Amino acid sequence: MTEHDLQHKPNATPQMTHSSSEEMTSAYQAKDPFWTPQRIIHLQGTVGNQAVQRLMQQQPGGMISRAPVGRIQRKGIGLDQSTVINEFVADGCQYWEKKGNKDKPVEEYIAYLMKQVNQALEAIGVTVPCKYDFTGSDGTHFFMKRDWLVRIDLAYVTRDMDTATVGALTEDRAASLASTIYHEARHAEQTFRVARMLAGEGKDVQTIVAELGVYEPAAAEAKKNPLANSPETDQEFAQAKAWRNILTGDYEQYRIEVSVYDTFVSDTLELMRGATEETITTTWTKITDFMDYHFVSTDRFFKQEEKRLEGMQGDPTANILLQDAHIINIQNDQLAVAWAEVKDKPSLASVQMLMEPFSTLSSLLFRAYEHFPNEKDAFRVGGKVEEAFKQPTTK
Ligand SMILES: [Zn+2]
Repeated sequence: MTEHDLQHKPNATPQMTHSSSEEMTSAYQAKDPFWTPQRIIHLQGTVGNQAVQRLMQQQPGGMISRAPVGRIQRKGIGLDQSTVINEFVADGCQYWEKKGNKDKPVEEYIAYLMKQVNQALEAIGVTVPCKYDFTGSDGTHFFMKRDWLVRIDLAYVTRDMDTATVGALTEDRAASLASTIYHEARHAEQTFRVARMLAGEGKDVQTIVAELGVYEPAAAEAKKNPLANSPETDQEFAQAKAWRNILTGDYEQYRIEVSVYDTFVSDTLELMRGATEETITTTWTKITDFMDYHFVSTDRFFKQEEKRLEGMQGDPTANILLQDAHIINIQNDQLAVAWAEVKDKPSLASVQMLMEPFSTLSSLLFRAYEHFPNEKDAFRVGGKVEEAFKQPTTK
């Protein structure tokens, strides 16, 4: 996962997309699409009623995205400004709707969106355009900060389509693609701003490259415009600080552990879904490897991490990561119990029994990933693009 630092996983757990959050009723649910009624019932079954109640009560909800008390919520910065978003959406919509474009391959729509988003980046001072390619896999799209590259899984974008043309893209898919591109471009903006912050500390280009793992031309451009903390830049600075801490600071290890564990859990789950009588022996060997190695080391990490995060409660990021570490630990314990019951009984029935704790864990890890400050921000800003794209007024 070395380069998967900033990935956007549209299909990891499709039930966890944001679309249904408006329909929910309770205060927790309105702020946090995680607590759907189905999920609550499901988790009550798997992690226990009391644990779920306690976690729901502890949920910080919208707290971390709200401006701290006493501070005025200001206009968005960079790609998060409505004028920038609306222009990008209007251009994207127009391209997608234009009759003359309908027979063009989907790649050309993506190329157009990349061109537009690079213009937007330049207009907000991110003076290094993002490259892109279509070689992503597993339905993940991501921004690679070392190469300054947006990687798109084209096969995923064009899945179930008769022809991979612009005309065959539904509005949902055209909007989701625009949102994805914007999400990844926001990661470029985040990275650039963190590089400017490091420059503001007097670091030279090579140090910025080494510390942030960033594309050298981007570090060199950032160096020309260092970010310092001042009354005018305090919101800009505070955001950059939170992103820095997840990219390269206090929470870097947590981010890596969640991402790697997520990948292993998803892969193992995929394997279990495809298990047959013929493949049970190899499937079982792989599950055993996972449980003996990845599970053991990751379980140890999250137990220690929960304690460490408890000691960092002055930081709002620590607060939300702590909730996730806590619930991951509860679910890891559930998985350990389920494993103890079946570990000596390799069979399809045993695989079936393990599917539930694995799939719950997979959802929890995806949610933990969405809570990384850089991801939360990119999903929020990318979400605005998707919403605007589907609004009739932009047409
Ligand atoms: Zn992302």
